[in-house]
Amino acid sequence: MAEPKGRVAVLAGDGIGPEVMTATREVCGAVEKAYGFQLEWRDGLVGGAAIDAKGKALPAETVELCRSSKAVLFGSVGGPKWESLPPNEQPERAALLPLRKIFGLYANLRPAVLYPELTECSPLRLERVAGGFDVLVVRELTGGLYFGQPKGTEKTERGERAVDTMVYETHEIERVAEVAFLAAAGRKKRVTLVDKANVLESSLLWRKVVKGVAAKHPGIALDFIYVDNAAMQLVREPGRFDVLLCENLFGDILSDEAAAVAGSLGMLPSASLGEGSFGLYEPAGGSAPDIAGKGVANPIAQILSVALMLEMSFGKREEAVAIRGAVAGAIHEGWRTGDIAMKGEKAVGTREMAQEIARRVALGRGKG
Ligand code: NAD
Repeated sequence: MAEPKGRVAVLAGDGIGPEVMTATREVCGAVEKAYGFQLEWRDGLVGGAAIDAKGKALPAETVELCRSSKAVLFGSVGGPKWESLPPNEQPERAALLPLRKIFGLYANLRPAVLYPELTECSPLRLERVAGGFDVLVVRELTGGLYFGQPKGTEKTERGERAVDTMVYETHEIERVAEVAFLAAAGRKKRVTLVDKANVLESSLLWRKVVKGVAAKHPGIALDFIYVDNAAMQLVREPGRFDVLLCENLFGDILSDEAAAVAGSLGMLPSASLGEGSFGLYEPAGGSAPDIAGKGVANPIAQILSVALMLEMSFGKREEAVAIRGAVAGAIHEGWRTGDIAMKGEKAVGTREMAQEIARRVALGRGKG
């Protein structure tokens, strides 16, 4: 019997989003053909494009489309055209944050990978990144300082008083820690909890709960690092880490730092996961208005987001491995878009890069 189709909501968005998404779909088609399955890809409006067409960054029909899908493949939103709108109506804030909230996306996975052939793209000295690195930041996404109550500003006799609250409950820590340990099982089998347990009560709870989760995963090593030291070690020796597990604020900062030391934003995918197998998958970068419409953006972040999606929402690990292998193979054989081309290297466009990756998937010689 034919496997039932899984629906994917494709929200290309603004700027480089649509051109990168179109190119990425060629890779999706190649994977489906090579591995004999088919997903149902359904386009929806989001971000500035949705504001222009429907007056809202996240129209109700887009939410419905996502609700009826197993996964959301998100491009990027925003751009100068919508920057004068009130902050709450701007594409990023009015589309991504509500999506995270509506679908309870509590775990954000951001792999920061520097391929050995691209070490010169890293701003770090070559000896610090020799051989490349592969760090996964797992960030708690719906709790902590960003959402904790009380929160607000009040007048006082001397001026004003502003409060944010870092609060976590056991179950919020447990579920994201579980994601980190499962991810580590398919990697180098080490989770490092980033905290500030020398001063924060909430960090003490994180340590206690994460130790409990670790006990259920005897094959995975657990260690601890203070967030200030983690920030330092990421620029001294990023390759020493495997999975970094972080509460919301620490993860926000460290995932950007890890992306920065990995070189180009155009290479980095991300996944935001909720209960069950539902997830939202998107490139780590934004809509890149400076290069939008020129056909030069790097599609790899979006393509690797598809790999994460196939693996995490559809259980298709072999296909995900094939995509990653095809990307690594193309990089190894010198295929470069402008953002990762070094002096003297020829750069190809968005579509050519995606077609080369699709070709490698189809030939099943992803490792190049
Ligand atoms: P950006 O990530 O769009 O761009 C930063 C730099 O990285 C630019 O030089 C850009 O050309 C480059 N870059 C990013 N992706 C690339 C790719 N795939 N290939 C080659 N180069 C790439 O960040 P920004 O300039 O700060 O923001 C631009 C717009 O994107 C803003 O409106 C911002 O709000 C929005 N934004 C959206 C998201 C999202 O949709 N998740 C995330 C970040 C920023």
